[in-house]
Amino acid sequence: QNALLSATGTTVFTVMSALAVQHGAINLGQGFPDYEGPEEVVRAAAEALLDNRNQYPPLTGVPELRTAVAEANRRFYGLEIDPVSEVVVTSGATEAITACLMAVLDPGDECVLIEPLYDTYLPVVRMLGAIPKLVRLTPPKWELPRAELAAAFGPRTKAILLNSPMNPAGKVFTAAELAFIADLLQRHGAYAVCDEVYEHLTFDGWAHIPLMTLPGMRERCMRIGSAGKTFSLTGWKVGYITADKSLAPNIAKAHQLLTFTTPPNLQRAVAVGLNLQDSYFAGLSTTLQAKRDRLAAGLSALGFGVLPTQGSYFVTADFRPLGFSGDDVAFCRHITEEAKVTAIPVSAFYAPGEGVPNHFARFAFCKADAVLDEALSRLAAWK
Ligand code: PMP
Ligand code: GLN
Repeated sequence: QNALLSATGTTVFTVMSALAVQHGAINLGQGFPDYEGPEEVVRAAAEALLDNRNQYPPLTGVPELRTAVAEANRRFYGLEIDPVSEVVVTSGATEAITACLMAVLDPGDECVLIEPLYDTYLPVVRMLGAIPKLVRLTPPKWELPRAELAAAFGPRTKAILLNSPMNPAGKVFTAAELAFIADLLQRHGAYAVCDEVYEHLTFDGWAHIPLMTLPGMRERCMRIGSAGKTFSLTGWKVGYITADKSLAPNIAKAHQLLTFTTPPNLQRAVAVGLNLQDSYFAGLSTTLQAKRDRLAAGLSALGFGVLPTQGSYFVTADFRPLGFSGDDVAFCRHITEEAKVTAIPVSAFYAPGEGVPNHFARFAFCKADAVLDEALSRLAAWK
């Protein structure tokens, strides 16, 4: 048996969702909306299914979607992208992350990862035989430790994996932070895998800036988007990668080995989604911002130390002011069992080790207002 897989636990999202079901808890753990995506997008998928769009599509994606991805790059970020040679469609951002890492990492290469990190990053880097170099951000400020980041880069650095807006921190990297990273990439001749699945979910005027838009970064970045997040359709698992024509062919080969293609009917529908008017994208963040505010205000009123969220589906909250003495894993179990509300322990986003923050819980706010209100009243009753 493969040792790395044997040592990999079941993902915290699955574990906590199962626990939520077992205890009849409201699931504010795993990040998925409890509402549907735009009707025209879902309808387009249904029409494509009935239109017999059900056989293998082209390896890098259906032309409509590749064109829509290129157009979206121009519309939102001013990037000029060739839909034929610079876009690869994958089965979710999860596959895209692996495909991009496969495209650039050889065994023995070093890859810089920033904690807190999404659960697939570290095992995939290790499975490729590459060496992870971890740089840690910590709550409450989630500040980028520039000296440590610079020290993590060396002669064997091949890539960095950057997630902005960041899960679970809700941090949106600033132009200055991105410029610092871009400078390191230039000096070390390294690439960036940019996990930007929450690109359209930013709040309070925080604008997502793709690292790819910075000077010199066009050829060094592999930019990943997800229909799951952008259209509130997380089960669809359609991801899309934008990468320079010098990188895209290797990414396509990785995709060829991983899944080869992605359902064509869903791809056509996602193309319809990416072509929706600006008002759709603005409305998405306005709606989520109101949900963030609803949950954050409620948790604060209960005594939680709620941290600011600039983007993503999540708020993180310090539960120590409530007088709970256990760690975050115990807390998330406890509220699932006792309050019937589920959250995710923030320590799950760190490699085990000294000094991992263990007194924050992550709550997803991509839920109906009534569900958020019910979760808050359950927490109030438990407290
Ligand atoms: N990256 C991050 C940071 C995520 O939070 C998620 C999950 N929502 C993914 C990647 C995976 O996205 P997908 O469902 O498109 O595979
Ligand atoms: N990205 C989602 C989250 O962070 C869950 C994805 C998953 O369940 N693997 O909650």
